[in-house]
Amino acid sequence: MSFKKFQFRKGHPLSPICLLTLFLVFNSCTKEKLSINNVQEIKTDSSILAYIKELGYNDSDIKDLGEEYLVDGDIVFSKNTIIKNTTKAKGLKVSQYGTGSHTNENVVIQIDPSMNNYINEIYSAVTHWNNVLDCSLDFSVYSPGQTTPPNIIITNANLGSGVCGQSYFPVNNKPGSLIRININEISGLPFEQRQRTITHELGHAIGLRHTNWQGHEATTGNDPSNGAYYDAIHIPGTPTGIDASSLMNSGECGTGATYLSDYDKIAIRSLYFQPTPNWQQLSGGARDISIGADGSVFIIGTDYNYNNGGARIFKWANNDWTPIGGYAIAIAVAPNGVPWVVNSFGSIFRRDGNVWTQVPGGAKDIGIGADGSIFIIGTDYNYNNGGARIFKWANNDWTPIGGYAIAIAVAPNGVPWMVNSFGSICRRDGNVWTQLFGGAKDIGIGADGKVYIIGTDTLNGGYGTFTWTGNSWNKFSGAGIKIAGDLNGKPWLINSYNVIFKYF
Ligand SMILES: [Zn+2]
Repeated sequence: MSFKKFQFRKGHPLSPICLLTLFLVFNSCTKEKLSINNVQEIKTDSSILAYIKELGYNDSDIKDLGEEYLVDGDIVFSKNTIIKNTTKAKGLKVSQYGTGSHTNENVVIQIDPSMNNYINEIYSAVTHWNNVLDCSLDFSVYSPGQTTPPNIIITNANLGSGVCGQSYFPVNNKPGSLIRININEISGLPFEQRQRTITHELGHAIGLRHTNWQGHEATTGNDPSNGAYYDAIHIPGTPTGIDASSLMNSGECGTGATYLSDYDKIAIRSLYFQPTPNWQQLSGGARDISIGADGSVFIIGTDYNYNNGGARIFKWANNDWTPIGGYAIAIAVAPNGVPWVVNSFGSIFRRDGNVWTQVPGGAKDIGIGADGSIFIIGTDYNYNNGGARIFKWANNDWTPIGGYAIAIAVAPNGVPWMVNSFGSICRRDGNVWTQLFGGAKDIGIGADGKVYIIGTDTLNGGYGTFTWTGNSWNKFSGAGIKIAGDLNGKPWLINSYNVIFKYF
């Protein structure tokens, strides 16, 4: 079945209200000078020094650089750091392995312009850490306007001969805020060694110490030089001796391992273990998904063909997808379980019984609230406008409501939320679009009112997922490109490989 092309009959240009606001914010984001402070406040270098000693470092491992302490060659602590209610277990000297100090935040790296020629190396390092299975930490590179602000800056610094890089350790449950890379030292190295330096320093920033610390430090007892008590904890599954393959060995600038060793992965997993995520993979594949307020779930399949009108449309029933006839590129489900679709020609159809009835107008996307309000994104897409015009269904026709978007979802109270081509997120409050914090690629709202977005933080499988708290976005689990909420407040997700997941 294919649908005929249908032209828009009606509609007049409206001033792009949201767009103007958005542009200001968007531009200001790109110009923003970001400063990242784990903590500021007053100096109490005695407290940070005590903290370093409690991590199990000998006095001989600790160098006073004036504003900072340098520990074990390349690990840095700012003297400005105030240790707050630390979760670190005092006296622990963890083996391959941890500092006893963690981050509770995912790692978002801001690349200082001085490192612009090392972006590929940075992405390689990010990929190494992201590829550790069952690890809850996500690593990403910050781009202006994205959902999560950066918490690590990576910059060039002349650290002297023989030193590839330095990193801060995590304190107060945030990752070490600064990584310095000595371009003078690494520029002559092969790519794999250049990215190795960045991977290694990122390891410090999330709390890994040097694997080969045992060569010059005891495993338990009171440190003879400073009296601090420590007791190394051996991580089951890792060697008690050396791991020559560890990327976290010290003193191997330019010569060390370029991949995380199996024991490195066990170590990072032990610090940030996240058991099997609560995502269940479903059968089939999809490009779009929608869930009605009655619980019915529909997808657009993957057999896209422009001339057919898109890809086949399926309904979820008895743990499988059943084709219902017709082709489309986007779908939304009315509260009574009736799907509305948009096809590749921009035509709009509603399922009446067993047939598709064409409705007036043209669209690229469609959203329906639990109260039955229907909105579309028109076909006049223009990146610089923010997308295409937004229309509301009323009296058997579409009325433009102002604003431009690329994706739309409707809250149970009939209020539309949208994402525009700049990634900005807006909610319709009365007659104006209010821009919300963060950035997104897609948005979905469940019949219970829970709002989900596909953020802008690149992950394997798409982008990170987030839920709205009322004033900001909480990181959710999983990665995808399309998201929809069901009536129980659980999202369904499609990732960039078109795999469909349901959250439990
Ligand atoms: Zn190191």
